[in-house]
Amino acid sequence: MANCDGCPSKGTCGKNSEDCGVKQIPENKIKNVIGVMSGKGGVGKSTISVLLANTLADRGYKVGLLDGDITGPSTVRLMGLQGEKAYSDGKHFLPVVSPKGVKVISLNLMLDSEDSPVIWRGSLLSTCVIQFWNEVLWGDLDYLVIDMPPGTGDITLTVMQQIPITGAVMVSLPQDMVSMIVAKAVNMAHMLKIKVIGTVQNMSYITCPHCGEKINIFGKETSDFLEKTGVPLLGELPTDANLSSISENGGEITDPVIKAEFDKIADGILEAIKTK
Ligand code: ADP
Repeated sequence: MANCDGCPSKGTCGKNSEDCGVKQIPENKIKNVIGVMSGKGGVGKSTISVLLANTLADRGYKVGLLDGDITGPSTVRLMGLQGEKAYSDGKHFLPVVSPKGVKVISLNLMLDSEDSPVIWRGSLLSTCVIQFWNEVLWGDLDYLVIDMPPGTGDITLTVMQQIPITGAVMVSLPQDMVSMIVAKAVNMAHMLKIKVIGTVQNMSYITCPHCGEKINIFGKETSDFLEKTGVPLLGELPTDANLSSISENGGEITDPVIKAEFDKIADGILEAIKTK
């Protein structure tokens, strides 16, 4: 690799530039890569990725958002960027820049129509994510947030092996079935020596609109796997219309209580990986 200088794993990956399989274009200087993961689909991985990217941009950081969920890309909608297109300058792909300044790349920014299916085999899907990493002109970034491919299969494995992830954030629900599957993702990260920053417990409760009581719809307050795996809980978000409709305002949290909780989650993530 010609440019270890732009790599978040510089000096810590144990490889030298010759045996590194990760290529990066010289214009890219990405300080930290945060992978948002969940072994289970539909738990809010893309929602958390978008909220994290926007929260970090609001704090003045230079942020990118890479949509690694190639077959079910939802970050474009969640960011309120539908209708936008990503183009190439003949040399590199250029990300679409959101009104908050987040540089976004997703296959949905390249398809003729957002409802065109992507019927590709696994190897092509992982190649696409890797190309988003090393053929997109990201420029200088403090944080690249990756909405990781769903599951713990070959696509996730390739991405985790080839992209130098500074830390992984797990998204879970307080339900045994989901916890069991997210625990697989935690164990996968451990096996690949990727730091697990913590878990965001999403759709954790609903708030009664009449009395304000918190109701644990899954019957539990926290997931059992947190204790078993030793992964810290970064914070919990309710099932709430404010969060299901973020695409209507470009990925903004309008409810002050939920915003404060998400700020706490972002603080925990930054503290764990310490801004370089
Ligand atoms: P994943 O990326 O894990 O598949 P998404 O972020 O796409 O999950 O979320 C799945 C669905 O759940 C979406 O329709 C999203 O708007 C909704 N959703 C996610 N988190 C919440 C929440 N806390 N409250 C309400 N709806 C949510």
